[in-house]
Formats: sequence, C-alpha cells, structure tokens
Amino acid sequence: MKKMTCVVIGGGYAGIHAIKAIQKNIGRNQSIRIILIDPNPYHIKKVLLFKPAVEKETIKIPWNRIFTSNVEIIQGYVTMINHKEKSIICQHALGEEQLMYDNLVITVGSCFQKSDPNTGGISLSSPENGELIFNQWNENLALASKANNQEERKKLMAATVIGAGISGIETSAALAEQMRKVATIKGLNPKEVTVLLINSKNILFDEGPGKLGIMLEERLFQQGVQVIHNAKAICEKNGIVELDNGQRIPSGLSVWTIGLIPNPILSSWDIPLTTDGRVKVDESYRVKESIGIYCIGDCARIVNPRTGVEDQMTCKEATVQARRLGKIIKADILHKRSPIHKTAITTYCFGLGEKQGLVWVELPKINIYLSGKLGFWIRKLTWDIASLVK
Ligand SMILES: Cc1cc2nc3c(=O)[nH]c(=O)nc-3n(C[C@H](O)[C@H](O)[C@H](O)COP(=O)(O)OP(=O)(O)OC[C@H]3O[C@@H](n4cnc5c(N)ncnc54)[C@H](O)[C@@H]3O)c2cc1C
Repeated sequence: MKKMTCVVIGGGYAGIHAIKAIQKNIGRNQSIRIILIDPNPYHIKKVLLFKPAVEKETIKIPWNRIFTSNVEIIQGYVTMINHKEKSIICQHALGEEQLMYDNLVITVGSCFQKSDPNTGGISLSSPENGELIFNQWNENLALASKANNQEERKKLMAATVIGAGISGIETSAALAEQMRKVATIKGLNPKEVTVLLINSKNILFDEGPGKLGIMLEERLFQQGVQVIHNAKAICEKNGIVELDNGQRIPSGLSVWTIGLIPNPILSSWDIPLTTDGRVKVDESYRVKESIGIYCIGDCARIVNPRTGVEDQMTCKEATVQARRLGKIIKADILHKRSPIHKTAITTYCFGLGEKQGLVWVELPKINIYLSGKLGFWIRKLTWDIASLVK
C-alpha cells in the first residue's frame, strides 16, 4: 500500500494534538508519513506567555519531549501552498524545498496584535518580549531602591497592563505578585507597588456571566491589581500612560495585551479567507475549494452547523477540534461519513498568581465556579495537558 504523506503546518496546540489524533486514528491501519513544519525547534506554551515576563521560567518545550517517534520535524516556514498540485514550498536553513502531500493540516494560529512602535510600552507578543518586560520591572525596582524622590520611586514601582482579556488578567495578577516579592527583597515597601489593568469595557470578561467579572475583579484586587474600566490607552510617553478619558498615569512599565489576530501569513496563500483573515472551512474542517486540506485552531473560522455558534480563539477549542480531526481524516480516507463540528462545553480557567486560580464552567442550567488553590491546580493541569506535558 502506498505510504500517505500528511503535512502539518504549525506546532501550536492545534498542531500537536492533530498529530497525536492522526497517529491514533490512522497510524494503526495505514502506513503514514507525518511531517511537522514549524519555524521553532520547540513548541511554545502560548497560554503561559506572561510567565517569562514575571519569572525566569521557560515556556519552550523541545519537540522530542512531545513526539518520541514517527514524526519528521522540519524547522522552517511554509511560504506557498499549491492545492492543484498538492504541494507546498517550505523555506528553511538550507533554502527552499517543495514537498508533496496527500493531506495538509493548517494550524498556523494567531499572533498578538502588536501595538504601533510609536505608542511606547512593550507588547506581550513573544517569549522574547516577555523577557524584556521582566528586565524592565526588575531594573525599575533596583532604581527605586536608590531613589530619594518619592514621586520618582512611585513611578518606578508602578506597572500598567493595557488590555483586559485573559492574558491581561493573568499578566497583571502575576506581575503584582512578583513585583511585591522583589520589592520586599530590595528593602522597598511592597504596598507601594501599583499594578493597573486598563479595561475598555465596564466589566471584566464580559463573555461570561456578570458574577464571573465581579469575582475576577475581587481576586485581582486581593493580588494587588486595580482595574480601570471604560478606558482605552492611547500611548505611553516618557513613563506616562495616556488614556482616552484624559487620565495620565505615571508608570515605569507599560505592557500591551490587546488581543489576537489570525496569522497574517494566511493572506499570502491561495486559500479562501473570511474578511477578518481566518480560513473558511466546512463543518468537518475541510478548507473550501481545496482537496485534502484541513484547517483548525485560531486561524480557522469554525461554526457549529446546528446553532451557528462560532468557536473562539482558545486553546481548549483548538485541542477539541484536533481530536475530532483525526477521526475526520480517517473517515475521508475510507470514504465514510465524517464527524461534524460540535461546540465544546464553555470552560475558562484563569491563573491569578502563583497559587490562585479561577475556573468557570457553563452547564445548561448552572454556572460552576472553582477558585483558590483548587482553581489554580485545575488551571495548571489544563496548561500541561494542552502542551502534552506529563
Ligand atoms: C497570553 C495568552 C494567554 C492565553 N490564555 C488562554 C487561556 O487561558 N485559555 C485558552 O483556552 N486560550 C488561551 N489563549 C489562546 C490560546 O493560546 C490560543 O487559542 C492557542 O494558542 C491556539 O492554538 P493554535 O495551535 O491554533 O495556534 P498557536 O498556538 O498560535 O500555534 C501556531 C503555530 O504555528 C507556527 N507557525 C506560524 N507561522 C508558520 C508558518 N508560516 N509555517 C509553519 N509554522 C508556522 C507557530 O510557530 C506556532 O507553533 C491565550 C493566548 C495568549 C497569547
């Protein structure tokens, strides 16, 4: 029997879970060659992007910790897809390479919206920017410990997080906790550390019930974070954050966490996209107008055909889609009826510092909230499961 080639582009959450699902569903019955293409020699635990900003912890997992065998890894970028020929062009250290595929899975995900470089501050868009943030607040606290001027010291001990999605919430909680710890070590008064979270809406996390927003704000307050609602930051200049309501906030550090956009590389490939740049797929994740190409995760627009509800850009949704994709590809190979997309149970987990978390699960008639250490334990478990770390 001819060995099939399945190429997966992108080793984020969707990509690694798709490979496991393909191996599980197809590997046993059919000889299959699986190739993963990713620009990095590691998987990034993207939901932990705030970690390098607050402590010296790596969020990069080498591929050999995730795949022990039977996956060929190419470190490179896919620059072109030719769906008529069923081939792709990959750019890597040795130059350009053309690869033929039988099945192609696109999981190139999303990127953090980068703030305009002229608007100041640092965008939490990569582990490297996380390290810049870490260095900045540590230097600020070192300077604060020598500052005689009270105003100057207050400014050096202040941080502003702009954008109050999950990432802004988790970043601000962890920053407040770590800045207080280091301030104490440096002989500063930890109560002088101020961390502000700028929220453009009137409540935190309005995708959920009002109670969740209130609980989050209370927990953040306990961690030392103050939330400013109904405000947008315009820019940061010389340590002053300017808000659209005229407020000017002295802040030694400002961090932008203003949401995700689909990977811009998609617009240079010959595949159908929505107006906001996501790949158009059918109810079984097949890319429209292309044979043998599937797309899941943050870069796909996936809609429940029964309810019309769209999946969000979340790690949980990406991994559920990936598990279903293994069965879909198997069914397509065997010319059987394939499973179709279903919306996953709504669950959100928030890490709120080192040992605190909050989990919200929406069941048909009841909302479940788990907080404190239990919430954190569940949060940590989901981080590890998502990255296939034991
Ligand atoms: C700070 C932060 C906190 C978050 N918190 C949560 C949370 O608490 N819960 C939750 O469910 N979700 C959370 N999310 C969202 C979650 O991270 C995404 O939904 C998830 O990463 C989507 O997975 P993905 O595999 O589709 O894409 P990604 O994780 O973005 O992976 C894309 C992969 O494609 C690779 N790639 C890119 N371009 C190319 C190319 N041209 N060729 C080859 N490979 C390429 C990249 O290197 C990467 O490995 C958070 C996101 C951020 C940024």
